[in-house]
Amino acid sequence: MMQQLWFTKKNTLEWRDVPEPTLDGPGQAIVRPLAIARCDLDLPIVQGHTLFRPAFPIGHEMTAEIVSLSESCAGLNVGDQCIVNFQIVCGTCPACATAHSPACSTVPFASNYGLGREATQWGGGVSELVKVPYAEAMLKKIPAGLDPIQLASLSDNMTDAYRTVAPYLRAHPGANLLIVGGVAESIACYAILEAQALGASSITYFDTDRARCDFAASLGAQIQYAEKIPQRLAGAFDVTIDCSGSLEGFRMALRSARPYGKSITVSIFFDNNVPIPFIEMYNKGIDLTISRTHAREQTPELLELIAQKKFDPARVTSRIVDFKDAAEAWLEPGRKLIVRGS
Ligand SMILES: [Zn+2]
Ligand SMILES: [Zn+2]
Repeated sequence: MMQQLWFTKKNTLEWRDVPEPTLDGPGQAIVRPLAIARCDLDLPIVQGHTLFRPAFPIGHEMTAEIVSLSESCAGLNVGDQCIVNFQIVCGTCPACATAHSPACSTVPFASNYGLGREATQWGGGVSELVKVPYAEAMLKKIPAGLDPIQLASLSDNMTDAYRTVAPYLRAHPGANLLIVGGVAESIACYAILEAQALGASSITYFDTDRARCDFAASLGAQIQYAEKIPQRLAGAFDVTIDCSGSLEGFRMALRSARPYGKSITVSIFFDNNVPIPFIEMYNKGIDLTISRTHAREQTPELLELIAQKKFDPARVTSRIVDFKDAAEAWLEPGRKLIVRGS
């Protein structure tokens, strides 16, 4: 048996003894997490603000060491340190083959570690061992010299940030960005650092929280603070990025993009009737992107940026705790918690 941390009811996490995972087919790996990061979505989940209902094993951002492999795992070896894709993806179905692994058709929709009752099948990251059903597709080796502790959030939040900036800065180097901060606190910070690495000309960070503004300023963003979220910010932004988790922040981001600009949201509204400023967007030709992150597709590029020292994710980490302290630490608010593996 092994220990695994479960979300069992609102504001409650419990250690459970569960059977150790085993290899039962080709292409699989058993890994021992080296570090598990708390996603910006994890705290709202345990606080009961989402539609993810208990009980399930928690934690989905992780780096890990391979402890055993079945046949047909080309390029992987026992002892390798890897980024573990938080989305369960096969790597070979039509969706995976066309760079849309979040729509992998080999597994049920939205199969992830540590997210929802489906995770009882896949497991969670805050665990002594984790089974990786498609090792070649889901494990990305960490280059020598990089600290696996500080890379844990690359599984999800760092790539979620990357999708908000990389496609636009590649197409329009020097674009001027607005990041609206809030609930997706670490994603907003990663977006600032990644946008700097990719050559944004100007990064404005808006928030209604002074402490988050101060931290974004320390990362090099220009700050716009207000007690309440206005309808729009002046500034003719090429790209606006909503990390607020609030309807007001999402709508302000949509209204603050320049004509024919882009707006991307990482907020998740558990609602199919979210009101958008339709006619304003229509008249201005605003291109809105709503999506889950393409973790598998973006991980190699991001890892390369980190290896080239263009982006240091450690700047976003706010706390690192030992495995035994995970249950208590997980419930305490903070920008980016990382739990050391067992
Ligand atoms: Zn996440
Ligand atoms: Zn697939």
